[in-house]
Amino acid sequence: MSEQSTPILDRALGRLDLSDDARKMLQHAHKRIQMSVPIRRDDGTLEVFLAWRVQYNTVLGPAKGGVRFHPGVTLEEATELARWMTIKCALMDLPFGGGKGGIQVDPKSLSRQELERLSRSFVRELHNLMGPDTDIPAPDVNTNPRIMGWMADEYDQIARARTPAAITGKPLALGGSEGRVAATGQAALYVLQEWAKRSDKKPKDITVAVQGFGNAGAHFAMLAHKAGFKIVAVSDSGGAIYAKEGLDPEPIHTEKEKGKGLDKVYSDTSVRDGKDHQELETNKLLALDVDVLALAALQDAVTVDNVGDIQAGVILEIANGPVSPDADDTLYGRGVTVLPDVLVNAGGVTVSYYEWIQGRTGDRWSAEEVHDRLKARFDRIAPQCFDRAEKDGSSMRDAAYAIAVERISAAIESRGDSCYFKG
Ligand code: GLU
Repeated sequence: MSEQSTPILDRALGRLDLSDDARKMLQHAHKRIQMSVPIRRDDGTLEVFLAWRVQYNTVLGPAKGGVRFHPGVTLEEATELARWMTIKCALMDLPFGGGKGGIQVDPKSLSRQELERLSRSFVRELHNLMGPDTDIPAPDVNTNPRIMGWMADEYDQIARARTPAAITGKPLALGGSEGRVAATGQAALYVLQEWAKRSDKKPKDITVAVQGFGNAGAHFAMLAHKAGFKIVAVSDSGGAIYAKEGLDPEPIHTEKEKGKGLDKVYSDTSVRDGKDHQELETNKLLALDVDVLALAALQDAVTVDNVGDIQAGVILEIANGPVSPDADDTLYGRGVTVLPDVLVNAGGVTVSYYEWIQGRTGDRWSAEEVHDRLKARFDRIAPQCFDRAEKDGSSMRDAAYAIAVERISAAIESRGDSCYFKG
């Protein structure tokens, strides 16, 4: 097995009836680009940041995936995230391969102007290896529409052309799509609703704790609350709050948005600043006795070290990779249902696909149209995953991987096989 593959993908490759070609192709990242991205700081000094873009697989279409700004970004992390994007796009039946990029930086330590220069510099370094038919970046951890706007403008200036399909997750004014901001949280709710329907449970009887109150976590919490689920706890990097009778995430989100101010890209307030709620130690949120634990922060929130504390019967993976592979096996053994990231958080890239189509055609879709299409796609794909897991007697993650890998493998095999050489 290759150093670039992982236990979950290896399991799928080992157990499915695939050609050797497909197995070999999927075990390796197609392109891994390392860049040194220079910017001038506000005091005039030059600083160089390490950055990567990994185009893991492009069999189904151009590489697609976000760019994150985080001090913990490494080549290995970007590779793993790009691999997950490959599975996610194939599972959702999008005409995309998988990619991911990142800059090793604490973006909150930069001024707004430095952040803009860094975003633009990243695009300058990557320009000839990206584009609407090659590799299409989007937001991820610590990046957002404003940052995508700077990146899209830089791309267009170098290309000397308007190229709205080169980057997704842009501001509406620059050709972004209606519905993109709420899409990840919205579709995570669709998957939870499908689970509730199949388990014969009513939303009002389902308690939910949400770890992470960034874009995806906050929108999920607000929409789930509106749909009747009982949100009893939410957390962010500043702390956690708990309310036994349930809380309304909307005012908490409004407060956090106010913390952004006009000149700031990130909020400097926490969910903890809200009044009327009991404070909770941040790590206690994971151990709450709730029905559903929604993980919307970073990867490896649940590992072998804390998996024993988990009491929830269902884990909803809104972040990418919040449950480590070992912990995932333990949870499966204990009968905990893990609704996997590659399905649960795929609403973001699905609406990115809608934005890409609008960018290519010059069309503009209404919020209703985007919403209806997103719903229809999840109404098609989510049941496929639940049914496949039942049929195979496997976890939902293994089922999602099986569907995705079979789609990619069919495309690899259709492009040519070894028969030609055997005469
Ligand atoms: N960063 C998001 C993800 O992990 C969105 C990617 C995209 O829209 O291309 O799915």
